[in-house]
Order: sequence, then structure tokens, then C-alpha cells
Amino acid sequence: MQGTSLQQAAHDHLLLHFTRNGRYGDGGDPLLILERGEGCHVWDSRGRRYVDGLSSLFCAQLGYSYGAEFAEVAAAQLRELAFNTVWDTAHPQAIELADRVASLAPGDLNKVFFTCGGSESVEAAWKLARMYHVANGEPNRTKAIARTTAYHGVTLGALAFTGVPAAKEPFGEPAIPVFHVSNTNAYRVDDGGAEAAFTSRLLSEIEQLLLAEGPETFALIVAEPVQNAGGCLLPPAGYWAGLRELADRYGILILADEVITGFGRLGTWFGSDRVGASPDMITVAKGLTSAYAPMGGVIVSDWVADPLYDDRRTLAHGVTFGGHPLSAAIALHNIDVFERDGVLENARAIEPHLAARLQELRSLPIVGDVRGIGLFWAVEMVRDGKRGLFDAEERWRLVKEFMPARLAEAGLIARADDRGDPVLQIAPPLIADKEVIDEIVDRMAEVLEAAGEFMGVTDEQAASV
Ligand code: PLP
Repeated sequence: MQGTSLQQAAHDHLLLHFTRNGRYGDGGDPLLILERGEGCHVWDSRGRRYVDGLSSLFCAQLGYSYGAEFAEVAAAQLRELAFNTVWDTAHPQAIELADRVASLAPGDLNKVFFTCGGSESVEAAWKLARMYHVANGEPNRTKAIARTTAYHGVTLGALAFTGVPAAKEPFGEPAIPVFHVSNTNAYRVDDGGAEAAFTSRLLSEIEQLLLAEGPETFALIVAEPVQNAGGCLLPPAGYWAGLRELADRYGILILADEVITGFGRLGTWFGSDRVGASPDMITVAKGLTSAYAPMGGVIVSDWVADPLYDDRRTLAHGVTFGGHPLSAAIALHNIDVFERDGVLENARAIEPHLAARLQELRSLPIVGDVRGIGLFWAVEMVRDGKRGLFDAEERWRLVKEFMPARLAEAGLIARADDRGDPVLQIAPPLIADKEVIDEIVDRMAEVLEAAGEFMGVTDEQAASV
């Protein structure tokens, strides 16, 4: 299939995830159909070239030019053993990958449970936390804490942790009683500038909640090292140390959801290393294979996994394809490539250039904030160069209508998102060089300038606020 027949067949048969499906098809916008990738660029079915400023939704750490060597790894694995489960049996690739991941993970996080993606990993982590508490004689620890606007996946268990109302509303009562506390968005709070006060307010909100509900009823606190939804929300100094202290004081486990921040996004193997977090469990997916195959996992500390090694206790959770040999072989090779090609070193070396170039965008009147770390950044869009908010109708026009079409026109894959306040987000492949970074930021500037004009946000208006 090609051209219009691909467009037509997509409209007729393919339900797009998290998409206004009605936007495409007869008389609608053309659907962006990507056919080919090379380096940090992708090409659509009309032959147009785009710079991938989002690593295919935070996945393609290595970009697109490693296909040949991953294909060899995949072919060898499929010839040797196409499939075996990790239920009561195992295979060398899952074992070696678990060993390798354990050696890279922080602290005593040494046990790995494989899944097929992020949502499955979050749910598995919840079950592991529950099994730990039940084994410790605390079955009443049934509640959890997560943060507003955070995204932790959409299968019904994971959805309970997600703090995005629009993703939850149609689906009734959450499967798990999760309490959502304030996230770490410093831009929108008045004491955001006074970091210590901000940290202590956030931690005290959690402690007040625990005391009101009964701390002995809580099993888990879930947080990303840097929260994605809302636009790269960095933790203020002392936040993760404070979470650890609260968790220890009240016997609660901490899950760092590293589906995005794991495998180099913040310039370190795990985001926890970069922000000083010491969680009991880490969830990973996306970058684990750099998206050359689907895979996820939960990395669990020895002491949390300990009760699972009691002779008569069965781990009461499993998924058929968790630890699939093909994905495991690819994940192992992904780690080899990271080490062989200095991928983390490159990400760390390029970060200051990216950060400096992005700060230049502050001169545009529609840009209110520029925040991020590693190769994970967001630009918050405002109506007046300060903290002025767009109303719901304006946000819709800006984020849902104007930005996607204008980004495509500029040849830039980036994410315009309004699960929190409206942001333009980027997460370049970790192999990006200065030229790619410049291309991404130049195009962001072009699109943001056009967005300002479209929304009537002018220099004069910004100056008058
Ligand atoms: N957790 C976080 C932090 C995520 O960003 C995502 C997806 O983007 C998920 C969980 C869910 O992952 P998946 O889409 O692979 O189920």
C-alpha cells in the first residue's frame, strides 16, 4: 500500500491510541505515516524528512541507524530459540539480561521481573509491593500515593496511579485506592523560588495525608525522578531524600517509575542516580531496548524480593511474553551499544549545549518557562511572557489544533501537551550531535514564534504585564 490507499486503510481499520481518530480520513487532516528512519531523522510516506526531537515518544535512545546489527541479533536469537517463558523455566537471555540490569541498577536493586511495557511494569510493581507487605504480616497496607498530572500507564491497575483525569474519567472507580498529592511544578507555586520551603511543603502534604488516613494502611509511594506529564517537573532539592525518610518512618515502599527516565534519558543509566533517589523498586520500559523491540521490567531490591524466596510462596503474577528471548537479546545488545559507543557520555556532553540553546527561547513572548535535565526538556507556553494561563478554548486551539500541524510543517517531531499547563516537550535521541540539537531548537523557535502570533501573544503585551 502507498499514499492515499495507506491513508484510507488507516482511517478504515486502524484505531489510533490516544488520538482524535475523527481528525483524519475523508476531508480531515492527513495522518503522519512514518516509513523510514536514519540517525535522528525519520521520513514520512510522502518522502518528507523530520528531525525526531522526541525519540519516538521517549523510546529511540539510539535513533534509527542500528537496525542492521539489531536484525543480526534478532535473527540469531530466532534461529536459536524463538520463545520460552520465564514461568518455572527460563532461557539464557532473560537470565543474562536480569544479571546485567541488576549490575547497572542503583543500590541493592538486584532482582528483575520482566514485562512487555510500562503499564504492565507499574502493575507488577504494585503486586510485588503488596506481596511484600502481606508476607510481612501487614495485609492492610492497601493504599498508595502518586502525584497529580503524573502518567503511569492506562491498564486498569496502572491507571489508578495515573493522575490525569481525562484518562481516567470514563472508567469508573480506580482498581487501587491511590491518593494524589501535589507534583513538583515549581513554576506554578508562589514559593517555587524558595526551594527549601517548597520541598518542605510538598513533604508535609504527604505526611499530613498519611497521618489522616493511617500510615499503616499505605503500601507504596510512586513517583518519577522527573515527572513527564506537566512538562519535565524537576524535584526540588531534598525532595527524594525527604520521600525516603517518610517511607522509612512509616514502613512504606517507594517505586521510582523510570519508564521514561531509565536508560539514559537524564544522562545516567537511571534517573534515580541523577536526582539522588534511593527507591525500593524501579519500573523501566521504552529505553530498555531503545524500542528495537517491546519490553519492560521491574527492578526490585533484594530485601523487598526476599519473601518471594520462601520455599512455599509462589509469585502470584506473570505475563506470557514477559522476558521474551527476542526482546531480551535486543535489550542485552542495547546495553552493549550504550557501552561500546559511549551513549551516556554523549548525552552528558551534549546536555549543556541543549540547555543553553533552549534558554534562548525565553526571549519569545509565548515562552513562560524552560525546564529540564539531561535530554528531557519542556517549554511552557503562556499568554503573556509571565505566568498567564490560556483558557480551555485557547488551549484546545493552541495544543490540539495549531501545534501538531505547525510542527509537522516545520519537520519537527516534538510533543505539544496539555495534560498540565500547555508545554512543548522534547527528548532527543541520546546519540544526537550539536547539529541535530540546533536543528531541533531552531525549529522549536520557528513553531513557538508562529504559535505566539497565532494566539496573539505579542512582545508589547508581554512588556505591559
Ligand atoms: N509510566 C510512565 C512514567 C510512562 O511515561 C509511561 C508511558 O509513557 C508508562 C508508565 C506506561 O508505559 P506503556 O505505554 O509502555 O504501557
